[in-house]
Amino acid sequence: MHQWLVHFFLGGSPGEFFEERGRRLEKRLVYLIELQKTESAAGRIHVKKRNIPVQANKLEEEFKVFCEVVEAQREQMESLRKRRREKDTQLQEGQQSLKRTRERLFEVKTNKEYQSMLKEIEIFEGKNSRMEDEVISLLDELDRLEAALKDKEEELEARHRRYEEEKTRMEAELNSLAGELDGCVRKSEELKKEIPAELLRKYEQIKGAGRGVAVVAVWKEVCDGCHMSIPPQLYNELQKTTAMITCPNCNRIIYWENRNG
Ligand SMILES: [Zn+2]
Repeated sequence: MHQWLVHFFLGGSPGEFFEERGRRLEKRLVYLIELQKTESAAGRIHVKKRNIPVQANKLEEEFKVFCEVVEAQREQMESLRKRRREKDTQLQEGQQSLKRTRERLFEVKTNKEYQSMLKEIEIFEGKNSRMEDEVISLLDELDRLEAALKDKEEELEARHRRYEEEKTRMEAELNSLAGELDGCVRKSEELKKEIPAELLRKYEQIKGAGRGVAVVAVWKEVCDGCHMSIPPQLYNELQKTTAMITCPNCNRIIYWENRNG
């Protein structure tokens, strides 16, 4: 027997074989391979389950940031409207003052008084005209902001819908992953019943030492566990044997997997 060939005559009958693609393997080894695949699948589901809340938080954060941007624009708009109201009031007051001064023009007695009042009227007119310009430019700015805010609010609504949809989808995915995980756990339990206790212990022991994976495939002489090449002689042996072999590099249980379709 080759030095790498390890037989575990530990319970179960070595005479029970499983055939696949012309390949014969001990049944308990087939169960062990299936157990590893099931546990690896469960591990991937765990990772996905952990990632979903992270994605959900990121999504919520992005949505909150956008809400804040819209809120800031709303506030800017409000303060602009307030300034516009103030300017309107000032302009009305200015127009009133101008009107009163013009009325007083008819009451003056001297030319000097008349001239100074004309000067006063001129100043009021200038001030009012500047205020009118300011109101017009405020109105322009308000129009521009209103249009921009309308776009932003539409986008906010669309984002809110997408956010709610994503949240619902994530919740559904979490539920379905929980179901898949349950399935894996049940399947693992069933498989473990078919594997002799000593072999299972060996499996757990390698799993503990090998960062979670004890059984790996080998294809074209490369071990899936350590990604190192195994000796050609061992590779030949691996393709023919019905028993268990471990990788000389990483010590994981290896099996030959025909990846030619
Ligand atoms: Zn290896």
